[in-house]
Amino acid sequence: MSLADRVHALQDRIRRACEASGRRPEDIELLPVSKRHPLTLVREAAGLGFQRFGENYVQEGCEKAQAAPELAFVLLGPLQRNKAKPALQNFAEIQSVDRPELADRLRRLAEELDLVRPVWLQVDLWDEATKLGGCPEAGLPELLAALGGDPRLPLRGLMALPPPGEPYAFERMAGLRDRLQQDLGQPLRLSMGMSDDLEEAIAAGSDQVRIGTAFFGPRTR
Ligand SMILES: *Cc1c(COP(=O)(O)O)cnc(C)c1O
Repeated sequence: MSLADRVHALQDRIRRACEASGRRPEDIELLPVSKRHPLTLVREAAGLGFQRFGENYVQEGCEKAQAAPELAFVLLGPLQRNKAKPALQNFAEIQSVDRPELADRLRRLAEELDLVRPVWLQVDLWDEATKLGGCPEAGLPELLAALGGDPRLPLRGLMALPPPGEPYAFERMAGLRDRLQQDLGQPLRLSMGMSDDLEEAIAAGSDQVRIGTAFFGPRTR
């Protein structure tokens, strides 16, 4: 199947999921996840109108960002503090902010480098933290305090990677989003749903689905 055919099939899935849950397709961002796919394929996707791509690994994402400055890359994967500088310099957005020490470091560096980078909080409601990263719900106040409403790191929303098959995972995230929006008095987007579960995520209120395999095909490396 060609990339264009795969992308059209995927957009159809998103449209049907929206119809089924009374949502508007234009309210859902499709973020292609290009990790472990070559830049040639990313450029082909850019030719279809996509400009933002999710990446998991700091080094791979930095290399792609430097080779294709006309595109924007979003960091989805775990970020160590000692990679915070290249991450801020090369990624347009960071979705995996999950610890106060990392938030502190990002704030300090954003000021030093004079950069503005939207951030998302990665949340883990399932006690998976050691494997996938993510801040437990009880840690969110401290994490938010560390971000301190810094205008250099504007908070866009919440990102989650619930373990497959976890009951009500997306609904729980939506509930948390609603509560935090109330507390903070600002809109927050929800990034959840991947190739295998985007329908459930959209039904529960996701605003951004992050799609690797169903967009680019199987990862080869
Ligand atoms: C790989 C990855 C995705 C996309 O996964 P697919 O199942 O290939 O769609 C989305 N989000 C994150 C954080 C990922 O690491």
